Amino acid sequence: MKILLTTLHAKYIHASLALPYLKAATTEIPETQTVIREFTVNEARSVILREILAEEADLVAFSCYIWNIELIARIAADVKKVRPGTLLVAGGPEVSFSAEEFLLENCAFDYVICGEGEKSWQEFLVHLTKEAAASYSALPAGIAYRSKNGPVPGQERAAIGNLDEIPSPFALGLVDTSKPLVYYETSRGCPFSCAFCLSSREKGVRSFSLARIRSDILYLIRNEVQVVKLVDRTFNYDAGRANEIWNFILAHNRSSTFHFEIAADLLTDENIRTLTKVPAGMFRFEIGVQAIGKETLARVGRTSDPDLLLAKVQQLTEQTGVTVHLDLVAGLPGEDFSGFLASLERLFPLNPQHIQVEPLKVLKGSPMVKIAAQEEYAFSAGPPYTILRTPYLSFEEIGHIEEISRLLDLYFNSGRFRSSLYTVARYLALTAFFNTMAYFIKKESATGQISLKNLFELMWRFGVGMLPAEAGNSFREALCYDFCRGEYPATGLRPSFFPEEWKSASESLNRNTIDSVLTKVEKPFGSRVRTFTASFSQDYRFSPPKSGQVDLIFIYISASGQGLRVEIFSAPPAALK
Ligand code: SF4
Repeated sequence: MKILLTTLHAKYIHASLALPYLKAATTEIPETQTVIREFTVNEARSVILREILAEEADLVAFSCYIWNIELIARIAADVKKVRPGTLLVAGGPEVSFSAEEFLLENCAFDYVICGEGEKSWQEFLVHLTKEAAASYSALPAGIAYRSKNGPVPGQERAAIGNLDEIPSPFALGLVDTSKPLVYYETSRGCPFSCAFCLSSREKGVRSFSLARIRSDILYLIRNEVQVVKLVDRTFNYDAGRANEIWNFILAHNRSSTFHFEIAADLLTDENIRTLTKVPAGMFRFEIGVQAIGKETLARVGRTSDPDLLLAKVQQLTEQTGVTVHLDLVAGLPGEDFSGFLASLERLFPLNPQHIQVEPLKVLKGSPMVKIAAQEEYAFSAGPPYTILRTPYLSFEEIGHIEEISRLLDLYFNSGRFRSSLYTVARYLALTAFFNTMAYFIKKESATGQISLKNLFELMWRFGVGMLPAEAGNSFREALCYDFCRGEYPATGLRPSFFPEEWKSASESLNRNTIDSVLTKVEKPFGSRVRTFTASFSQDYRFSPPKSGQVDLIFIYISASGQGLRVEIFSAPPAALK
């Protein structure tokens, strides 16, 4: 029997973990041959369909998530029309908790694997190789199916007690480690029960053994995976265990970045001491703040203390080199628009690298569905089930929050406007700045794609109107610096606020200075090098900027396939012509 395991990622850079797990769990079943094919939601549906059919599999299993379920449903329907004899199976969080409903609405599918897949999948394939494919007798637990009389739910299956029983897909070489982002997990389950999250369905946490974790991590490090994204729901649920793994990575890592989802309030002093040893950028922490209002948090069953959580975040940003990403969910029970702004307001002073704001999603199978019904929330019927109106937020306010979220991505999370926002924050609260900017952007009809130059122009026009008159010059200078450190300011392409007197480096610096700076820069063969220089009243290379006049030389190195690299040096005194 030929089996095709497939999924559609949100982005090309992602490598599946679920499919290699399933393949690893079934390598020893005789008379089966399993192939993995990974696509993205951005590929043409007809191309994906052709490639799936070209595999001529007897069974096609789809790994379903909120971002791919609609496309998968359409592709599966077409597969069944072209090859009615192909068995179609769905699994993953988007179908696990509503399997009967899914089978009812998607008649192309024959089976749904509910919940944790490896054991169910392994027993299911054994069953299929022994029984006639159409027989439902003695189907293993955890499999929902379509009978003549309609969908039948699967029997409950206990979670796998010892996770080490699941063969490592890394040890078997089944994960595509050439992708820039590889998913990995050291544990399953979450100790918390937030009503809006599907992880609240599973009680307790199970960990792989430390021996297994060390071996998998070494494999990822040796393969020089660019980003290892751990999908553990709360990686540091056990502070001692987290410390051991972090120390192991610190001792062995070569060049990989490790991304963890953590609960900041659980960090111990010993954890912080360990994290002070982390080189800048090696670890990224994603921390769910979600909301600050204690009553709101209590209503969704979140037990974290927001004050303690924020204090720990501050320790992280002040004392360690960890990159900090904070999440907020807008629209939780009891939080209105001013409550949302108050939550956002508490995050900026902590200096995180990213702030992600998302309107609440009422996920199928989550306890939030019941709360939403009781409180008469309106939310989208299809993925991603985003709220449309709540008793606390109007449709317009939710749209406005989405615009603030987009501006945060463009201006704050991109890191492109670091110096300009630092200058803004000296005069205004950033929450008020982004809130008002969202209205301005709407008025300017700039709600679609915005070019980089226009992003700077909009920031200038909006900022100079918001800030007090005495801030104008320093704001302009900071914006110019931010532009120069990301893009070569070619004549004609410079934003309108650039000082007219600024020239290219070759015009303003003596030749010896340029030559001596260029010797310090690594230039790949065939690369193009351009230079630019400008005088600033502060040195924006530092955070906060160092006061005092400085002449900066920007070196722009571009090589095909490598993007643009910018290096910045201070010009020695008397280097200017
Ligand atoms: S939101 Fe985070 S902490 Fe809460 S249940 Fe989900 S994974 Fe656990």
